[in-house]
Amino acid sequence: MNLVQLKSKVTYYGLLAAFCTGVVFLPACGDKKPTDTTEVKADSVITTTEKEEIPPYDGERFADIKILRYEVKGFGELPLPQKKLLYYLSEAGRCGRDITYDQNYKHNLLVRKTLENIYKTYNGDKFGEDWQNFETYLKRVWFSNGIHHHYSEKKLMPEFSYEFFENLVTNSDQASFPMAEGQDTTAFLAMLKPVIFDADFDGKKVNKTKGDDLVKTSAANFYENLTQKEVEAFYKGFVNPNDETLISYGLNSQLIKGNAPEDALVGLQKEGIYEYKYGIGTAEKRGQYAAALEKMVYWLEKASTVAESANQKQVIDLLIQYYKTGDLKTFDEMSIAWVGMTDTNIDFINGFIEVYGDPLGYRANYESVIFMDDKEASKRMAVLSENAQYFEDNSSIMDEHKKKEVKGVTYRIITVVNEAGDAAPSTPIGINLPNANWIRKQYGSKSVSLGNIEDAYNHASGGKTTTEFYPTEELQNRQKEYGDVGGKMHTALHEVIGHASGQINKGVGTPKETLKNYSSTLEEARADLVALYYLLDPKLVELGLLPSIEAGKAEYDSYIMNGMMLQLRRLDEGADIEEDHMRNRQLVAKWAFEKGQAENVIEKKVIDGKTYFLVNDYDKLRVIFGELLREIQRLKSEGDYAAAEKLVEGYGVKVDAAMLKEVKERYAQFDIAPYSGFLQPVLEPVMEGEEIKDVKIRYSTSFVEQMMNFSDNYSFLKVQ
Ligand SMILES: [Zn+2]
Repeated sequence: MNLVQLKSKVTYYGLLAAFCTGVVFLPACGDKKPTDTTEVKADSVITTTEKEEIPPYDGERFADIKILRYEVKGFGELPLPQKKLLYYLSEAGRCGRDITYDQNYKHNLLVRKTLENIYKTYNGDKFGEDWQNFETYLKRVWFSNGIHHHYSEKKLMPEFSYEFFENLVTNSDQASFPMAEGQDTTAFLAMLKPVIFDADFDGKKVNKTKGDDLVKTSAANFYENLTQKEVEAFYKGFVNPNDETLISYGLNSQLIKGNAPEDALVGLQKEGIYEYKYGIGTAEKRGQYAAALEKMVYWLEKASTVAESANQKQVIDLLIQYYKTGDLKTFDEMSIAWVGMTDTNIDFINGFIEVYGDPLGYRANYESVIFMDDKEASKRMAVLSENAQYFEDNSSIMDEHKKKEVKGVTYRIITVVNEAGDAAPSTPIGINLPNANWIRKQYGSKSVSLGNIEDAYNHASGGKTTTEFYPTEELQNRQKEYGDVGGKMHTALHEVIGHASGQINKGVGTPKETLKNYSSTLEEARADLVALYYLLDPKLVELGLLPSIEAGKAEYDSYIMNGMMLQLRRLDEGADIEEDHMRNRQLVAKWAFEKGQAENVIEKKVIDGKTYFLVNDYDKLRVIFGELLREIQRLKSEGDYAAAEKLVEGYGVKVDAAMLKEVKERYAQFDIAPYSGFLQPVLEPVMEGEEIKDVKIRYSTSFVEQMMNFSDNYSFLKVQ
């Protein structure tokens, strides 16, 4: 992990997916007693042959979303115990789906179940614009695990009227709505009206505006009747900053002002404020989400019986224990065991892991990611890591900034098998965990790249736009043939070599202290530049990491186009660039363009009114990248804030408004969705009596079918 990696979860952002940090979790399950594997129905829409042929799928488009699919190569060849393990873990993962909804907002389950009941039982016409808008709204709620946009955090506004909604509710099966006891339809509608139709009523899931009471103004369901000041004061009383094995206070609970009920599983409490723990608890003291967590534990216990190693079994068993007790010390023990689990093919994250959903960063959302090693790809990463010293010694940075002994970051490429909770349908592309700093320091961390997810993204975006943004056949063919492999090698070099490279001068503080608000952008730029510098090094071909130096050139072409123009499509007109990776890319591209201008290294060409940035001299551009790398390493090593400010503000922030307009217009023809998410593969046991004889993988083709299936089979929490 590098110094600037404040976040562990990295979502897909831009054409180049350089990511830098972690994620981990658990799934939960609910009220029905699970009888066994056979009770789980497969997606009804799936049609597949014995040979696990994948049904064709083009991706489904609605609102600002595209639903994609990822493939699990190699699943069929796994030994049966590993297939079973993946199946059990996937089931466990899904059991927690409702938890994510409830954490995101206290009325999410109410809204979702209401919409689903309408979808199933409305007896009026199910066509026309209003109905379509209703369906779109329901899909958006599923996609965001609630009624707030998964990225902007703002409430999703339906494009149908309240009157139409009233008609939908009135003409659906009344008995199946999640009404409170004694509530009639009128009262039910009155309660839902502001929740769904008033943009200002709980309008933002997570508010981070400085000066606001972040607890009061965020809709996320982590605090009850509390102000930000009260929450902060509460934890100040407990947290000892000198504790070298500090538990993650608040991670798995809701904080409530009031008297704790007798039968609640309670964590810390003081002066009328208490933590209501997420956990199963006991018959006398039940935890929050116990119903879902019980189901999850049911599947985890099965998983434990087919663990690949003693260490993996220990991880699963500690996780079960943690869910039962809610004890954060057990969670830390589990995390430590998980870091040490490097000998297995299958790995997983399951639990309350990432804290972005809490405006104060204490409490974590539930998520589950289940994966297996991509051995071929991971081997390539190992080759990079083994040669880390070569890359350090031959770098363009000053000798005094080179590490005498450099170790590449351990980094694996994985194949995702299933995701749930906060990791689905929208997914991270990289994971770096655990989050607890003291565990990272003492035991290390695991960093993985979600290879098959990245492939799916590349295939979804590839092709169509290549012709538009590369003016010659030579460039287009190079993108088609080498674009993917060049992009992946960039990401690998960025992660394994880039962030690990270089050293800070003695006596100079950390970049966070010296470069302050510019440290993240410049750290990303530094890692990108290390990657770019080596992408044209024949050594990569020699090591078998690139098929040809053409792959390096393809990456140069796309990096420059992206940094100079293409990434601007994500911005609104008039906006500056704020996101660190975007700032870094424009900084690098613009600086290189300017430095090479006299020699026409990069040429701005306008053909038929369309702008292109074309690399004329790749070797010279490599030298320029090397110079910028040297300079950025220098200012990091010396802590030169003034130079940092000049670079970032001068090249990374301001947007060329005309270019932004042009890019948006040229992209409009492709109808590319700003956000994507994924259908989950379905693992289906083949039973012989009580025994699982095999597990088949099937691929869904309908988002609606899959979401309804999940809601029917994995919904274990009651509406409050
Ligand atoms: Zn990075």
